Amino acid sequence: MPRIFSGIQPSGELHIGNYLGAVKNWVELQHEFESIICVVDYHAITGTYEPADLRRRTMEMGISLLAAGIDPAKAVLFVQSRVPEHTELAWIFNTITPVGELERQTQYKEKAGRLESVPAGLLNYPVLQAADILIYKADTVPVGEDQLQHLELSRDTARRWNAKFVEGYFPEPQAKLTQTRRIMGLDGQAKMSKSLGNTIGLLEPPAAVWEKLRPAMTDPARVRKTDPGNPDVCNIYQLHKAFSTPGTVDHVAVQCRSAGWGCIDCKKVLHASMEQELAPIRERAAALQAEPNKVRELLDDGAQRARRIASGTMSEVRQAMGLD
Ligand code: SF4
Repeated sequence: MPRIFSGIQPSGELHIGNYLGAVKNWVELQHEFESIICVVDYHAITGTYEPADLRRRTMEMGISLLAAGIDPAKAVLFVQSRVPEHTELAWIFNTITPVGELERQTQYKEKAGRLESVPAGLLNYPVLQAADILIYKADTVPVGEDQLQHLELSRDTARRWNAKFVEGYFPEPQAKLTQTRRIMGLDGQAKMSKSLGNTIGLLEPPAAVWEKLRPAMTDPARVRKTDPGNPDVCNIYQLHKAFSTPGTVDHVAVQCRSAGWGCIDCKKVLHASMEQELAPIRERAAALQAEPNKVRELLDDGAQRARRIASGTMSEVRQAMGLD
């Protein structure tokens, strides 16, 4: 089986943007690929944070991933800091990565531009990402378009290390572009993101989901119920495509274009479709929340399995570099 690596920040409970844009895809891929899925807490500490809060958010992310359908019998699911070989390989890659290449990374420039003092970890973030992927010799990485530049750096890193030490040792990981469109936030303005406060939590109860859906942005040109709408510019329609049956999606488009119903009617149908998919996830999450020790055991077991692969890679890397 080809091997796939996926990482996600411990941002707490998943929201439907990262569920639809990434995690739902990983749940399907775990049947076709040997899947390694990592909650990347070492990456999370490049920003400001509270230790207790990070601990809680890491646990919540583990529960969200399991509840969403990541199956520890199929995928290796673990927390990054439990496999310290990631940072060892990152240090090694730091010694062969040109600083100029890191400074050209778009995400670095955006984030660093907002800070008075830039931690070196922010600059070296993509080097750790390269280590995350290459330590498992993953040949495939599911990414959104905004991550392609970082993946290119991982490929460059593999080429550079191979050229210096062992030709062909690290595979150059290929991107598997996520098919789902970028999920916009409820404001319809920007990508769904916790920091922008425009999300719906994957585990939120139905009443809370409705409170967020009701005022959510629709086609801005549809001012009155009698105005025909354009579903193609409406984020609610995109969410129907993700959650509703194909028949319902067609019905939504017809009703919208003919002003056959109002946006509240449309949102009620979406709410029901979401509930179909999200209710079982909430139930699984509630069962896991009631058994935190079981969750810790599952994550520990994942870390042990990941570490067996990572430590094997590190022995070979140390030997090739004269560090043994
Ligand atoms: S009817 Fe539905 S798809 Fe059309 S604008 Fe309103 S919410 Fe959007």
